[in-house]
Amino acid sequence: MSDSLQQLTILGATGSIGVSTLDVVARHPDRYAVFALTAHSRWQPLAEQCVLHKPQYAVLSGADEAALLSAELKRLGSMTEVLFGEEALAQVASHSEVDTVMAAIVGAAGLLPTLAAVNSGKKVLLANKEALVMAGGLFTQAVADSGAVLLPIDSEHNAIFQCMPAQHGTLAEAGVRKILLTGSGGPFRQTPLETLKLVTPDQACAHPNWSMGRKISVDSASMMNKGLELVEACWLFNCAPDKIDIVIHPQSIIHSMVEYMDGSMLAQLGNPDMRTPIAHALAWPERIDSGVASLDIVATARLDFEAPDFGRFPCLRLAVEAAKAGQTAPAILNAANEVAVEAFLAERIRFDQIAQIIDGTLEAIPLSEPESLSVVQEIDRRARDVAKLLVDRQA
Ligand code: NAD
Ligand code: MG
Repeated sequence: MSDSLQQLTILGATGSIGVSTLDVVARHPDRYAVFALTAHSRWQPLAEQCVLHKPQYAVLSGADEAALLSAELKRLGSMTEVLFGEEALAQVASHSEVDTVMAAIVGAAGLLPTLAAVNSGKKVLLANKEALVMAGGLFTQAVADSGAVLLPIDSEHNAIFQCMPAQHGTLAEAGVRKILLTGSGGPFRQTPLETLKLVTPDQACAHPNWSMGRKISVDSASMMNKGLELVEACWLFNCAPDKIDIVIHPQSIIHSMVEYMDGSMLAQLGNPDMRTPIAHALAWPERIDSGVASLDIVATARLDFEAPDFGRFPCLRLAVEAAKAGQTAPAILNAANEVAVEAFLAERIRFDQIAQIIDGTLEAIPLSEPESLSVVQEIDRRARDVAKLLVDRQA
């Protein structure tokens, strides 16, 4: 193995972002080697990935699935060693041989392994926005303390990053007046309000422009995703929520914009394909081929913009309020949302009840300072307990 190969761990390798990452990586065998791949429980797709990408380690959450994967890999003649559990996730994220970690586990489950990568000073490609929403202060402090390099994968944040000067402290020091965070408005932007509460999980997961995992698809349909992204952007770009305008842009061609004090506005455009931000972050500050076709700007022809509709999307309103309230509000919001989305996907609650459960959870828990990881974890647990009670009451 050549020393010049970047050793990569992909947390959440079987998901939508994980698969796109492996697609980009496979185009550049001269640059990247896969050190470890992880997944929650679906060991069959992980087995296929191990055969193809030959990682040193594969990690699953449970012992039973790990045993099944191990037997399958032995049968296939793979040398990959199988591990399981939270500790193993942290180990493959922080291992001394690893250069780069793609953090693409969905939800709060990604926090600890992503922090393990940060604390060991890795180049961390962050897709797992929930980690930053829950514990942004601790997370960014850990980045500063360890010297980790944090690069955003979320397409909007990656776009903003690309439109920002290379070195900057505050937005004012960078000469930036504001950030324009764009969002498509999801599949229900124009759905009649009376039918909105009756939409099914499959309708919510049918995003007009992006193909993604089911949790983030529901978040996009409720526009909670844009709210989580607002919190994420405040931490990544060191600014207050009032410096960020949310703009609806149904075509998803502009991925976000930055407005400078002189009136210049920079935008990053491209086809809606996550391989672009993934390739950007993998190779940064260089550029590599991502497999994404050229944007046909003439065929695109028009770009539309409108203001967000907070009445239609109460989850977005709750998230903006939580971003402004700060403290533990975003962590409570995130935990309640995860519980509510899971209940919606299991068809235990209606779409409009997602916002009600989050609202009720935020009402029930007083805010405090998220001063340590244990405080954040305790708040996450409490918020889940409250949200589950509210789900049981609604269901
Ligand atoms: P996904 O559901 O397709 O994949 C999630 C991955 O995490 C899978 O590999 C799964 O096995 C693993 N996982 C799930 N629960 C786990 C647990 N408890 N412990 C360990 N591993 C677990 O999700 P996705 O769409 O790839 O999204 C991943 C993250 O990236 C999310 O935080 C999402 O918000 C963010 N993101 C995704 C996109 C996108 O286009 N898909 C865009 C921007 C940001
Ligand atoms: Mg996004």
